[in-house]
Amino acid sequence: MTLTKKILIALVLGVFAGIGFSFVPGDIFSVIDVYALNPVGQIFLNLIMMLVVPIVFVSIVLGAAGLGDPLKLGKIGIQTVAFYLVTTAAALAIGVGMGYLLEPGQGGDFNIGENTYEEQSAPPIMDTLINIIPENPINAMSSGDMLQIIAFAVFIGVALAALGDKTKRIHQLFEEANDILIYLVNLVMKTAPYGAFALIASAIGDAGLNGLGSMAMYMVTVVLSLILHGAITYSLAIWALGKANPLNFYKGFFPAMSVAFSTSSSSATLPVSMKMAQEKLGVKKSISSFVQPLGATINMDGTGIMQAVATVFISQVYAIDLGFSDIIIVILTATLASIGTAGVPGVGLVMLAMVLKQVGLPVEGIALILGVDRILDMLRTSLNITGDAACAYIISESDKRREAKSSG
Ligand code: ASP
Repeated sequence: MTLTKKILIALVLGVFAGIGFSFVPGDIFSVIDVYALNPVGQIFLNLIMMLVVPIVFVSIVLGAAGLGDPLKLGKIGIQTVAFYLVTTAAALAIGVGMGYLLEPGQGGDFNIGENTYEEQSAPPIMDTLINIIPENPINAMSSGDMLQIIAFAVFIGVALAALGDKTKRIHQLFEEANDILIYLVNLVMKTAPYGAFALIASAIGDAGLNGLGSMAMYMVTVVLSLILHGAITYSLAIWALGKANPLNFYKGFFPAMSVAFSTSSSSATLPVSMKMAQEKLGVKKSISSFVQPLGATINMDGTGIMQAVATVFISQVYAIDLGFSDIIIVILTATLASIGTAGVPGVGLVMLAMVLKQVGLPVEGIALILGVDRILDMLRTSLNITGDAACAYIISESDKRREAKSSG
């Protein structure tokens, strides 16, 4: 059986087991969770997270060195950031549109008097941008600061390309390190079906299905918006810009989407999403290794959709009308917020506070969606990394076409 099939089965079984567990008495579930699901899930999670920093570093160094010309790297950088910003804005527009169409905050029983939400401080966006250049690259690696690692790796790669023969042994060392890491990713992926099953069953069993009640419509709105964005925006972009078949894209990339679903973390999924893009979709290594880690850090369309729907939902629950200019502010701030959102579970909700404040909505409203956020996080993370891979695929396909044209 192929790995994709095994993961698909694990995913379905995990969802059903999780739903089943949500009916099991709490103390029995917690024993199953603590002694079976959690250890299996966490070991899998640690195994892939263990590879994230070295893979990002080594593959970006090689990617930048392979592109050679810093100008080409700059051009890819600009195309990537432009794609990310435009698709995130489109995602937000879909989220806001669906929020007004389906009105998840109208008519339910939401008990807003009892809400308390302890706000966590979100990193200021300007600081994130200024700190892209690391003061101390070793620190950046030990704390897993992805943007800083990317910047440092690009510098090393550019230098390797410029120095050419002089540093060919170090270049070779990086290539060999890359082989080791790819070998390890393949090894770890063999455990993915078990890890994914355990993580999904644990998350769904823990979140439970009770208490959905009036939140069901909010969840439906988010899920439909996520599906629409994946089915329309990405498919159109892949078809029109990449001149490729979107179905093939989704088929090849599916295992990475399911790992994102089970881990709820774009960063943790990086080794798998890069592997799938390069091996199944034929994305050039030099492009995938730069575009995808950057996307896992700054491009979060699924998160943006949740924030857009949540903002409209909270405005409806609190009966505070948002004007057209407020909607524009939501789209702008949520696009920025998605840049500042780290690719780890639950951060999208922390950044939502910033968006709400910008348009004068009560931050306590977040308490309403807290309970159902865990499951939505799984789904939106799948879309988050799909956007990164779609971008890498499109840029790689157009690069291949350009090369074919100039050689033919
Ligand atoms: N879990 C998401 C991710 O890693 C971020 C979020 O929306 O909380 O992509």
